[in-house]
Amino acid sequence: MSSSSLAPRPLPSPPTSRHVAVIGAGAAGLAAARELRREGHRVVVFERSAAVGGTWIYTPAAESDALGLDPLREVVHSSLYDSLRTNLPRECMGFLDYPFSSRRARAGGDPRRFPGHREVLCYLQDFAREFDLYGLVRFRTEVALLERDNDGRWQVNSRRSGAAGGDGSDENEVFDGVVVCNGHYTEPRIAEIPGMDAWPGKQMHSHNYRVPEPLLDQVVVIIGNSNSAVDISRDIARFAKEVHVSDRSLTDEPPRKQPGYDNMWLHSAIASTHKDGAVVFRDGCSIHVDVIIHCTGYKYHFPFLKTKNIVTVDDNRVGSLYKHIFPPFLAPSLAFIGIPWKVVPFPMFELQSKWVAGVLSGRIALPTKEEMLEDVKSWYLEMEAVGWPKRYTHNLSNIQFEYDNWLAEQCGCPSVEEWRKLMYVATKKNKRAHPESYRDEWDDDHLILQAEEDFQKFL
Ligand SMILES: Cc1cc2nc3c(=O)[nH]c(=O)nc-3n(C[C@H](O)[C@H](O)[C@H](O)COP(=O)(O)OP(=O)(O)OC[C@H]3O[C@@H](n4cnc5c(N)ncnc54)[C@H](O)[C@@H]3O)c2cc1C
Repeated sequence: MSSSSLAPRPLPSPPTSRHVAVIGAGAAGLAAARELRREGHRVVVFERSAAVGGTWIYTPAAESDALGLDPLREVVHSSLYDSLRTNLPRECMGFLDYPFSSRRARAGGDPRRFPGHREVLCYLQDFAREFDLYGLVRFRTEVALLERDNDGRWQVNSRRSGAAGGDGSDENEVFDGVVVCNGHYTEPRIAEIPGMDAWPGKQMHSHNYRVPEPLLDQVVVIIGNSNSAVDISRDIARFAKEVHVSDRSLTDEPPRKQPGYDNMWLHSAIASTHKDGAVVFRDGCSIHVDVIIHCTGYKYHFPFLKTKNIVTVDDNRVGSLYKHIFPPFLAPSLAFIGIPWKVVPFPMFELQSKWVAGVLSGRIALPTKEEMLEDVKSWYLEMEAVGWPKRYTHNLSNIQFEYDNWLAEQCGCPSVEEWRKLMYVATKKNKRAHPESYRDEWDDDHLILQAEEDFQKFL
């Protein structure tokens, strides 16, 4: 990781309590609220929905525009589908000091290592209760505008909606600092494919996929081959007539029947779509298709944030952010929690939040603006050197534990536990060995055994 040698500087003044707004009461917002309050800050959490949990609040409702492109659509926040199980083992899911209950500890509970989404929501609600966070949250209150004033403080304009559609009342308040935790799995990214405008079939984004039954007897193309695509293709294969998964990383090799399925094939990228309903793949295959599901990921989206272009989103890079958190020219009064992806999220949220809380109070010092910008620049150069595209700026898959430990060191916390890393590495290995069923088929690998043993000691 770049410039990890930027050591915390000693500070002269005692910690200061600040008035801090947190936007969002998902896992990141809850972690931020807890750490900010622990540091002595006065915290208000703005949450546009009526509950804590963010993404983990499953709803059968989908958006009116199934592709999620209409800017006037009523936004549904969560992208969960009914069958979703975590893609991390439960041991990895918990915050550092509030373990996700172990299988053994939950007698009568879900015995599976990869729990369903409802259990994650319960865990977050328990966390909010345990640390008395509910009283900090203003529910049904959406931040509509966030802007810095001439004194360097933040004007927060929020809109409250009542239980039955709302009174729509607006409020303007001023905060010393704002921590943005609005999530980044709500604004769909769509694949651009020749001929799509005239293609007559139905299209949707995975954001709006919930259950497989409506796809009964349909011929479906799934664009993408990462987590959601893999889950959704298997979910709908039980109902659809045919499922064709298009993976753009595959070259022109012929379609491959997917093991364990007689109605699912893996193809290369889509070459074109046509008025007669045909979808043509680069592998030469042409199929008459009823439905295309874009499992093509999401965009960072901060519609409320006005920073005169100091913070930008370009090709899924939020720029510039020192350590993916602080915009150098607005630090420390503006911070983002939860931007990195391909990570173990909850412990990372916690460490990011501890750092932000300590920096805001003045207990932990940041480098100078120039040093922060230099650090960001060297991260971009490192990415370029290994051929990573810009859109991978916040993909920390290869350095996530190094990143977490850097944060831990800044905060004076212990490093991330060895068992958590072992469990994560073992999951990846197991996924390669059992791509179809990695959640249920689990080798008694020495990595796992070691991680399990260490986790039990930790509990
Ligand atoms: C399909 C899917 C599967 C996933 N699977 C896993 C998994 O197995 N394991 C794992 O650890 N992670 C998984 N994740 C990642 C998951 O997003 C994170 O675990 C985590 O829940 C993100 O938390 P967050 O607080 O950053 O965002 P969110 O949970 O999205 O919370 C953001 C909150 O901000 C609120 N908000 C947004 N805008 C405003 C506004 N303007 N004003 C007020 N409130 C606002 C929203 O209502 C929401 O409550 C998955 C994500 C998806 C989409």
